[in-house]
Amino acid sequence: MLQPRRRPAAPNRISPGNAPLPKIAHIPSEPSSPTHRLLRGYAFDPSLATRLETALVSEIMYKVPWEPLERGPIGEYVEVVDYDPPSACFYAPVDLNDARVLAQNGLAPSEGNPQFHQQMVYAVAMTTIDRFERALGRKAFWTDRYKWKDNKVEEAERFVQRLRIYPHALRMANAYYTRDKGALLFGYFPGTEDRTSGQFPGGMVFTCLSHDVVAHETTHALLDGFHEHFMEATNPDVLAFHEAFADIVALFQHFTFPEVLVHQIGRTRGDLRSENLLAQLASQFGHARGTHGALRDAIGKYDHILGKWVRHEPDPTELDRTMEVHGRGAILVAAVFDAFLSIYHNRSRDLLRLASGGTGVLPQGELHPDLVNRLAQEAAKSAGHVLNMCLRALDYCPPVDLTFGEYLRALITADLDLMPEDEHRYRVAFIEAFRRRGIYPRDVRTLSEDSLRWARPGEDPTLEPGEMVDRLRLFIESIDLRHHVDKLRYLTTRREIWEATRAIRAQLHDAISGQVVKAEILQWLTGLALAEYQAPPGVKQHRDGVPVFSVQALREARRGRGDARVLNQVFITLLQKETVEHEGQRHTIRCGSVIVVDLDEQRVTYVIRKGLHDQERISRTIEFKESQVSSFSLAATYLIGSDEPFAALHSTGA
Ligand SMILES: [Zn+2]
Repeated sequence: MLQPRRRPAAPNRISPGNAPLPKIAHIPSEPSSPTHRLLRGYAFDPSLATRLETALVSEIMYKVPWEPLERGPIGEYVEVVDYDPPSACFYAPVDLNDARVLAQNGLAPSEGNPQFHQQMVYAVAMTTIDRFERALGRKAFWTDRYKWKDNKVEEAERFVQRLRIYPHALRMANAYYTRDKGALLFGYFPGTEDRTSGQFPGGMVFTCLSHDVVAHETTHALLDGFHEHFMEATNPDVLAFHEAFADIVALFQHFTFPEVLVHQIGRTRGDLRSENLLAQLASQFGHARGTHGALRDAIGKYDHILGKWVRHEPDPTELDRTMEVHGRGAILVAAVFDAFLSIYHNRSRDLLRLASGGTGVLPQGELHPDLVNRLAQEAAKSAGHVLNMCLRALDYCPPVDLTFGEYLRALITADLDLMPEDEHRYRVAFIEAFRRRGIYPRDVRTLSEDSLRWARPGEDPTLEPGEMVDRLRLFIESIDLRHHVDKLRYLTTRREIWEATRAIRAQLHDAISGQVVKAEILQWLTGLALAEYQAPPGVKQHRDGVPVFSVQALREARRGRGDARVLNQVFITLLQKETVEHEGQRHTIRCGSVIVVDLDEQRVTYVIRKGLHDQERISRTIEFKESQVSSFSLAATYLIGSDEPFAALHSTGA
């Protein structure tokens, strides 16, 4: 039998003389804020749900960073505005904080429910923003708004806190980012009537329900916030890069959908070189337009003559023949995807050997689920690294007139800084894949890592050895760069960071133009005219003689390196314009340089420059601009869409 346990005698310290015990109020513990909000959504688009093979993996759970939301949803970064101009109708905004919605991880995916459409664009846009921020280690910003009044930019309106997203803005097979409106516009349209398209004939297709279209457009906006001059077509690569980059981010996000990844690895028996959904972009959109394939495919395409999908073999001459921006961008996407495939292949080789008794050749039939899971892990890991490399390279790109070859240099330099060891040979995979598609930088002798890395500043021949480094260090110290960057790191809201960064940029501008001696070194390094004297004739000067230039951007980055050290950097962008005459015509050429500073060592590590007087570049730019005016279709693109470059570009794509 159980004996009732005797209660231990209460210690007699608290209430001497049998006085009643004081009542202690119970303080309830505050629940901590959630870190994430789970939202149901389509993995790719609604078309997967209608096919038996993919129905089980057609829905996924988006995990977006938690933030307070208003109806819309309206959060810190985006604001969904659901006005449908074709029907002149406002759809009621979704309330993602409604307890019933919260408890069910958002609304259930549905093509017919506009509130779900709002949830879907929000979930994908926030996932994409989060991916960007995690790779770069700092907050993302939209590009500034330039609203002119009395010949001046209205300062109060310059900071753009929220990107507006219109899920039902257009009644057409299109979607685009518009800088002017600071918005993403998504269209909807009836699909093809062709019964062989694999779609419901004439069924309505909503681009806002396609993960790929939403991620692609959000990336355009993020990239524009990062490099605002990448929308100026000064060579055939600039706009093509915008398109390619938007596709790369959308494609590599597929590898964060665990269910789909496992499904596709199982279906292809681990060989992602064969036709698979992960490499395809906007499947429903492409099929609904009657093309029998996805809108774009990184590794192959539907061959109309053979009537089946075929793998696309790399051709190093294709780049020279392809000028249309989406086509040209697709070559860069294919190169990056190829690099990913070799990395994944290398990482999974041991698993395949283990599973095949050492031969590496798998037996017929389905793969063991454990092997599928392990391969999926390797694919997810490789894809994550590739996307991180692609995003971090943005810090190392020249601020204007980017070429694909220079992007490769940026990729290699960024990775050499962060992962000096490169155990898995990621950089070799990139160089090889780019070479196979004819993508090289113009001015390097070999395609070795060392020659691809951006040049470190050499010594100024007019100074004593070591003097330049000392002077630059003095300059970095005198402008108190460390202190400024530290301050930035402790600010919390994006508006505070934006305002503080502007103030630092202004101080930096004054410091550079005020300190002639140091500016002279910077002038020599950046190839720009910064000091009061010797301003060349094509560069505008202020009344006091100081050449006009701007400190366009200042970005800090604190990132963990592969060897467990922390890299503490700041990237400063200087811009300037130069006017040149060519055959009686005046042309304005934008020049600029990024100075990369190692804050721990107080040293300039690289200067990525597009300086003044680069005759070769100037002639190339002029020639390219003239070729556009003479080509009818391109002229139409650029003339009509001069304010909205992507609107015109998207009429045939997304
Ligand atoms: Zn695009």
